Amino acid sequence: MYQFLSENLIKILIDFKLSEKPISILTGAGISAASGIPTFRGKDGFWVVGSKNYKPEKMGTMEMFRENPLAIWKWFIYIKTICEKAKPNDGHFAIVGLEKIFQSRFYLITQNVDGLHERAGNSPDKIFSIHGTLDFMRCGELCTSELFPFPAIRKDREENFLESEIIQLKCPNCVEFARPNVLWFDEFYNELFYKSETTVRIANESGLLIIVGTSGSTTLPSIIFSNAIKNNIPIIDINTHENPFSKFLTNYEKGFSIQAESALALKEILDLMTRHLTQQRSN
Ligand SMILES: [Zn+2]
Repeated sequence: MYQFLSENLIKILIDFKLSEKPISILTGAGISAASGIPTFRGKDGFWVVGSKNYKPEKMGTMEMFRENPLAIWKWFIYIKTICEKAKPNDGHFAIVGLEKIFQSRFYLITQNVDGLHERAGNSPDKIFSIHGTLDFMRCGELCTSELFPFPAIRKDREENFLESEIIQLKCPNCVEFARPNVLWFDEFYNELFYKSETTVRIANESGLLIIVGTSGSTTLPSIIFSNAIKNNIPIIDINTHENPFSKFLTNYEKGFSIQAESALALKEILDLMTRHLTQQRSN
């Protein structure tokens, strides 16, 4: 009846449902690919296509911001413009369905800055955006740790800023340049802006980890993954491609690797959980 859920996985999911432990879902760029947002790291990624002169490792850095804040802002305003035009897809909506089922047991950890989980309908207080979001900016000089709304400027790639727009890119507190509240390649995770410690703690307390569309190439997701193995909790990896997580899971007894579009696999998990809910109620 299910294409992606084995008998063993179905049993594990039902057992988990009957437990009281939280579920952590970790998402990466793969879930937003179906919404038309290119991945940051794929060969058709933002950074590669988006900039002839700079590699992503250069554009998304504090070093580049120090050299040329306007170039960085041009780039991020363009990304924000793309993200706003995109719409959440069935994968995002399936995760909203899982939040409705698990409620206080539900946590969503995302590497995505596109805001599509929020727009799909997940509760903001249930979303841990470990790489930040394009909803906020903060002072580039950190005169305050206060977050300010992201500038309401939308532009195509090569459009220059007007003087009146440049003012909006500055810290309202000290008038130095502000920066998007996102984690850059030459920066480290922290609790203050990215809730990194809270996120690891929540994941450690979970009884099920579902990883969707991420290749495991950044450190925090790798820590969450290896802690889950240490804690011997079931892990489901959903990805259209083989990746370091899925390779590792072949040797882990409670590991399940589903090679599929995220929406298709998540819909099956949601369907199973919904059916089980109905059965419980009718018993
Ligand atoms: Zn400031």
